[in-house]
Amino acid sequence: MAVSPALLYNGRVFQSSGTDAKTHSFAECILTDAEGKIVHVGFVSDPKVVAAEAARVTRHDMKGRIVLPSFVDGHMHLLRLGQSLLNVPLENCKNLDDIRAAIKEYAVANPSLSRITCKNWMFSMTDGKATASMLDDLDPRPIFIDEKSLHSTWCNTAALEEMGVQDMEDPEGGKIYRDENGKVTGLMTETVIMRIVWPHLAKAASMEEKVEAMKGAVDAYSAVGYTGAVEMAMDENGLEALRHLRQTHKVPVRFAAHWVITPRKTEAENLAQVDRAIELWKELNAETSPDFRIAGIKVVCDGIIDGCTAALTEPYSTNGANVESLWSLEELAPVIKKADGAGMQIALHAIGDAAIKIAIDALEKHATPGRRHRIEHLELAMPEDAARLGKLGITASIQAVHADPAILRAWPKLLGEHRCKRAFAYKDFADGGAVLALGSDAPTAPIEPLKNIYTATTRRSAREPDYKETVNPEFALELAAAVSAATAGSAYSCFADKWTGKLEPGLSADFAVVEMDWDADKLLESNIVETWFKGEKVYDAQAA
Ligand SMILES: [Zn+2]
Repeated sequence: MAVSPALLYNGRVFQSSGTDAKTHSFAECILTDAEGKIVHVGFVSDPKVVAAEAARVTRHDMKGRIVLPSFVDGHMHLLRLGQSLLNVPLENCKNLDDIRAAIKEYAVANPSLSRITCKNWMFSMTDGKATASMLDDLDPRPIFIDEKSLHSTWCNTAALEEMGVQDMEDPEGGKIYRDENGKVTGLMTETVIMRIVWPHLAKAASMEEKVEAMKGAVDAYSAVGYTGAVEMAMDENGLEALRHLRQTHKVPVRFAAHWVITPRKTEAENLAQVDRAIELWKELNAETSPDFRIAGIKVVCDGIIDGCTAALTEPYSTNGANVESLWSLEELAPVIKKADGAGMQIALHAIGDAAIKIAIDALEKHATPGRRHRIEHLELAMPEDAARLGKLGITASIQAVHADPAILRAWPKLLGEHRCKRAFAYKDFADGGAVLALGSDAPTAPIEPLKNIYTATTRRSAREPDYKETVNPEFALELAAAVSAATAGSAYSCFADKWTGKLEPGLSADFAVVEMDWDADKLLESNIVETWFKGEKVYDAQAA
């Protein structure tokens, strides 16, 4: 598949020393070849560039703009993102009245839909309450409301009946809330979402709808400068839809996926899921299918702070209650050993300090160093654990969009001020030598990488730019380090650094042309002008 060789000149081409970007500089031009690879990065006076110009290479004027390696989202959920782009957004609602008004308006405007799905509700908007009766008089159709982090779903009675949850038992690690008479109330949390709600919604959608949803997500990714992503909860349904998407469309985003392992009653059932992941990995790996592959497994060790489901070493300050990690060290051991033994990568979701400790202990004890195992989120890590990541070669998979001060207003109450001091300790991870991979966790947060980098570097809100609050600015990353975490770091995190993540000869010509000042405080004003994938322009803001 030949593309036309190109010279992109008059740019500021980002160059960095490594995933930590201890030093960085800017070159002036990039030369690409017919294979879609970078052959040279440097200056127009370089002999290679002079020769290419003599051979009449196609020239593109970058007009002084910054050229970054295109972004790799270190942690995202493709089908959920695609479906959520079609959901009623509730993030601007302040209370139940706002939520009801938004749903009502959407329901009236969309009479042909068979169900109404909503996103980005937060418990704080409804004083922690979520019952079907709060929604039942709005519309007769099933209503599903995703909590912002996707760890809870709130439904009306029609949705509860459609799923048939009244007669279901709580799955391991999840809860279907019931009243004193055993009647389901409308709230479901943790593994219920992955085991019951999502499969139901995915089944309810046709293959055509799923492919369309995914296509929408891929287009949205191209438009903000991504050419790669790590899908962090792949299952049979998502895999089938992604296969269809790739058969029917050109997909200018490479996907590396982690197969989600949900806790079951027996070790054999847990391991059967790992077996399935290994089987798929043998079919879809970096050699056989570099653009669409299984990288490893994903295990969710706890929930989230906001829902009081993250596992902490000390109880929550609000209610004195606490939860345990969804997996004990003993339960994790066989799953980790099996996946690691097969050569796969392991990703452990761990948010609270207790879960983070268990996750690191488990990888230290049972996994092979050098396999680029990773921990997702790391929102409240103790100093001693933050320092262990680098020593053990564990990638710190971080999502600065979750550190946005505007969505952390409940934290001081939930955790107490003293514990908030440990929130999102990115600098500690980096200082300890861990590779950082920056991701969006879309659709739980907005996808734009430069907004994500804004919060990583300034520790301020991208959602509410006028909100002056910062979250532990001592943990802020330098701009070059944050850009590297969103490019080279995320590529490294899934072994894609062999072909992308940096602008260097021999790598794929994957880059984003950005109108921006090299100044963290001005990132919210930046714009993606073009996205290039394998030497071809796949997004042009001017044509959009
Ligand atoms: Zn996630």
